[in-house]
Amino acid sequence: MHDGLPNEVSRWQHVEATAREMFRRYAFNEVRLPVLEPTALFVRSVGEATDIVSKEMYHFVDQGDEHVCLRPEGTAGAVRAYLQAGLTRSGGQRWFYIGPMFRRERPQKGRLRQFQQIGAECFGRADCQTDAEVLAMSWQLVQALGLQQLRLEINSLGCPACRPAYRQHLLNYLAQRRHTLCDTCITRIDSNPMRVLDCKEADCQQQLQDAPEMVNHLCQACDEHFNGVQQGLQTLDIPFVVNPRIVRGLDYYNRTAFEIITDQLGAQGTVLAGGRYDGLVESLGGPATPAIGFAAGLERLALLLPEMQAKSPDVCVIASGDAAVLQASMRHADALRQQGIATIHAGGGGMKRQFKIANREAVAYCLILGTDELTAEQVQLKDMNTGEQWALPLSEAIKRIHGN
Ligand SMILES: [Zn+2]
Ligand SMILES: [Zn+2]
Repeated sequence: MHDGLPNEVSRWQHVEATAREMFRRYAFNEVRLPVLEPTALFVRSVGEATDIVSKEMYHFVDQGDEHVCLRPEGTAGAVRAYLQAGLTRSGGQRWFYIGPMFRRERPQKGRLRQFQQIGAECFGRADCQTDAEVLAMSWQLVQALGLQQLRLEINSLGCPACRPAYRQHLLNYLAQRRHTLCDTCITRIDSNPMRVLDCKEADCQQQLQDAPEMVNHLCQACDEHFNGVQQGLQTLDIPFVVNPRIVRGLDYYNRTAFEIITDQLGAQGTVLAGGRYDGLVESLGGPATPAIGFAAGLERLALLLPEMQAKSPDVCVIASGDAAVLQASMRHADALRQQGIATIHAGGGGMKRQFKIANREAVAYCLILGTDELTAEQVQLKDMNTGEQWALPLSEAIKRIHGN
């Protein structure tokens, strides 16, 4: 687990603020959901056969013999909350969340056991325009963060009407090549054949070059939907490529699946992933409800941003004189804060020590109060960048600071 210290948290806040603004523009509203959920929720939604559930969850039995776990992802809890609040007849919900997720993975570089995700879920809309908008929102988000060398990849996973026939087709193909594939692939042929296409082993990729792809086996409705999504993206001038190898592990995922990939760090990496999951609400006990969403790792997005420092205070108040001067300077600091100016007080005493504090904190201004200034009802305001200094009333000093 990882401590977020001020300089790093500044970057997180920048990512969060950018995301919040993008969600606002697309009229998505924030939800804040519990980090602890019944273990069964994830077994039923994420799936027992997945690595997340079988190996990576923090689950335990609490004092009341309840099987609970720290949420490994955000969608299952969002669906639970949507159902529990009785919103299935509300005609549509657009939600986003920002918060910690937990996976008890084996420690390795770049993996955190507590990490943060930014995600969005849209319930109640099945039309391809909605998919295009959710993809556009994702794209605009990573653009607004200034990430470089980005690529939006999309695929269609079909639906319960067309996927079984494709799956059989794929199984026949894989059966002929079984002996040439890696151990993971061989296990997946039996548990989840579509994920074989996703294997990162070069040998497997080589073997699977001409594997049948879902996009060529879509039913008419899925084909029209997928075309509609692509047309929507073209209308919105969002660049994309179709990658038929994007797969998802579970049956409730359908139609649109997408990832945003960056080559910015040398090795390519997924920064955001999502798609349609029209079957999930029903599989968790609700009525059939179309839904689409995505999630992105906040730390990972922050890592791709330029270096950023924690914000410096605007002003350091420096006092030189007796107790009356010190008290007046404390009131001045308070007055600055009430005017919205980030202010520290250097604590009085020696001027040299106080200026050292001001320099270390990298403030824009020092506001200096001595006996003469107190008598004259003025302060000295020093611009720390230019070295200029003015004697003026406190109210004028505040105006000048605001004018900066
Ligand atoms: Zn279909
Ligand atoms: Zn493989």
